[in-house]
Amino acid sequence: MTIDEAFALVGQAEYYQVVWRFDTGEITSVTALDEKPGKMFWSQLRQSLKDSNPPLKGTFFKTAKLTWEALEDITQNTAEREAQRRHEIATRQAILNRWANQPAEQLLDILETASYEWPMGSHWDMQFLMEHLFYFHHDDLKGSLKQRLHHLAARQPPFPEIEAWRWALRLNFELRVYLATLDHDTDTLFDIWRETSIETSYISDMNWALLMECYAFAGGKDAAIIDDLVEHVEHSRVFFFHRYEAMLNLGRIGAAAGSRAVEVIRAVIYDSSPTVTALRERVCERISIPDSAWTPCPHCYHGYVLGAGDHSFSRQICRVCLGIGFVAK
Ligand SMILES: [Zn+2]
Repeated sequence: MTIDEAFALVGQAEYYQVVWRFDTGEITSVTALDEKPGKMFWSQLRQSLKDSNPPLKGTFFKTAKLTWEALEDITQNTAEREAQRRHEIATRQAILNRWANQPAEQLLDILETASYEWPMGSHWDMQFLMEHLFYFHHDDLKGSLKQRLHHLAARQPPFPEIEAWRWALRLNFELRVYLATLDHDTDTLFDIWRETSIETSYISDMNWALLMECYAFAGGKDAAIIDDLVEHVEHSRVFFFHRYEAMLNLGRIGAAAGSRAVEVIRAVIYDSSPTVTALRERVCERISIPDSAWTPCPHCYHGYVLGAGDHSFSRQICRVCLGIGFVAK
């Protein structure tokens, strides 16, 4: 049907589902929805259009916001937009795969000069690059290369090529944390810990987890920070993510985490999945058995391995040590 014909079907309902042919853009149905589309809408729609022939796509509109132009835009340009999106994803993955094989020096060049080729250059890509350098080129980051990272961290403004100030601060925060960790500088990490709170506007949950993790990697064992981590396990505001990360990092710290950490972990971490149970048990063992009985996991760096995801640049938790970074001798 034409867009005019589709419009003629719109009545009093507050929401309408519209379905169209993916290849030609022709609208095939306009259906009133009984209620506001909830969480299940997209999965049900995907399921109902799966294997359709010709291929169909669908969405919903709030009637008050439905215009002729909006319908035209979403139905007519679908195929072109989808092709563009696929091209962008494929190009991005090819570049990430290439980055995974480039030496640290060249990756640093990209960060320093901000010379990103299309479609790279978002803050995510910068974050990816820094993370990759830290986890998978840590042995190269010495001398002049490390000096270059320190210069990057000292730049003002921190990342001039990023428009959003919050993101620039966040990347700068990560870089400072990585550098202190490479230097095993637990004092600086302690200071960052004290001056940072989850309420700090540019700090995200992921940054907070990174700080916990880097403090543990660097060998930090300060009682006040361990108390904070135990507190996170016991009363985390952001329910599972923080609690889980704090537990994992107490395991990374090892025996210094102390018996109270084990008591709290056992009291509040339930058998919610086999993964959670396995990690809880491993963390409790790691804390209860003296550090001398453990050795760094030979399969990973600080609990992470490279490249089992969509592209070879991605980072995964090590299956052998469950992310703790140590295995029993
Ligand atoms: Zn491992």
